Amino acid sequence: MKNFKLRFLFAAFAALAANAWSEEVVVYSARNEQLIKPLFDAYTRQTGVQVKFVTDKEGPLMERLKAEGANTPADALITVDAGNLWQAANMGLLQPVHSKVLQANIPAHLRDPQNQWFGLSVRARTIFFNTQKLKPAVLSTYEDLADPKWKGKLCLRTSKKVYNQSLVAMMIEEHGEAKAESIVKGWVANLATDVFADDTKMMEAVAAGQCEVGIGNTYYYGRLMEKKPTLPLAIFWANQAGKGVHVNVSGAGVTKHAKNPAGAQKLIEWLSTDKAQNLFTDLDLEYPANPAIKADARLQAWGPFKQNLINVTKAGEAQAAAVRLMDRAGYK
Ligand code: FE
Repeated sequence: MKNFKLRFLFAAFAALAANAWSEEVVVYSARNEQLIKPLFDAYTRQTGVQVKFVTDKEGPLMERLKAEGANTPADALITVDAGNLWQAANMGLLQPVHSKVLQANIPAHLRDPQNQWFGLSVRARTIFFNTQKLKPAVLSTYEDLADPKWKGKLCLRTSKKVYNQSLVAMMIEEHGEAKAESIVKGWVANLATDVFADDTKMMEAVAAGQCEVGIGNTYYYGRLMEKKPTLPLAIFWANQAGKGVHVNVSGAGVTKHAKNPAGAQKLIEWLSTDKAQNLFTDLDLEYPANPAIKADARLQAWGPFKQNLINVTKAGEAQAAAVRLMDRAGYK
């Protein structure tokens, strides 16, 4: 009898626990399905927790979260660029998460000081050059690309892209607005041609010799070189004698009105751990945010680099000033 009671209690407890463990998590993701689905599938296999997700561009997703308010089904938001994550926090769409796991796994400069979001992958925005036109020894910094010696030799992506807004925001943080503005003006004066709609087109123009040098994210370079490995195009790690390469993140936060905040936190914590870090970064050729995890071999072949350790939150804080500055400087 006693044995029966115990068994009954145990069964009831197990059922309860299974229920709690399998409670689904709903994610709004600005990362596309092919990048996140393998990840969520792995999470479900490992934990039994189902992950439902909706993918869209970050703007519409944030507007949707805002419009849904307390009725949102979303427990977590995943998006790229600290500028976007900062925007989400600023719109009141996220809530602070106090997690020892995330504090330990994610370096301080890659997460929100208020703990509303956490970087999960690192995206390096650096200099690319045509290997037939110049030697890397003549390259040094983003700032140097404003020097008149680069007149007619520089290609840039449009200032409308948040990646460039974040880069300029970080330059405002480092140099102050006046100096940052003179650098951006110098870039504009050195442009070989109109700004490009995306990083890949900019890199193709550098490789084609339309210009000699440009600024872009390394994962676009990785994808392009996989398709066209003979292009005369190489990475130069910028500002290595100074503050380091401008890095940004893709990351995640728990939504303000999450129905399952604990489940969302567990998922984000899992994303910061070894196996998930590689799943999260390798598919898109990004760097793990967790410094204990090795980057994909293809990325390691590009060599090590020093990251700028300014907190990526600054990219959001100075974003509006960066947009105004680029407008004044005539950067289209
Ligand atoms: Fe991108």
